[in-house]
Amino acid sequence: MSVDDLRELYQEVILDHNKNPRNYGELSDASYTADGNNPLCGDRLTVYLKLDDNELVNEVAFTGKGCAISIASASMMTTVVKGKTVKQVNDLFDKFHKLCTGESDEAELDEFEDEIAKLRVMSGVRQFPMRVKCATLSWHAVEAAINKKDTATTE
Ligand code: ZN
Repeated sequence: MSVDDLRELYQEVILDHNKNPRNYGELSDASYTADGNNPLCGDRLTVYLKLDDNELVNEVAFTGKGCAISIASASMMTTVVKGKTVKQVNDLFDKFHKLCTGESDEAELDEFEDEIAKLRVMSGVRQFPMRVKCATLSWHAVEAAINKKDTATTE
């Protein structure tokens, strides 16, 4: 891996989200919660979601420990899933996953143009297959939570 690749991966915005994670903390009255475990890197996160009466994500938060990529990605995740339906969260994760693995097609991203624009900074992980698991861990946990599973693992 070259210095330029690493520079692309650890962009300023990622470092900022790692240092000052958004929506960090437990939600005591969460509707759904799940743990995410990435044994390859040692990242362990818990996500909390609270849905309102219209089944929209009203509050979202996370706790845990992990590498800079996993924490920054979890922080960014919380900023884009708020206000979404469960289906939209699933769809957004699908698109984010493609963004991280390099499968994304710009034309497919219309519905979530603003969200993907925010998350695009994470696409540097596609150079580092191990880091894709770090970047998607919190999303796997969210998916597990809204599908009423307790735990998500990247393995
Ligand atoms: Zn990691």
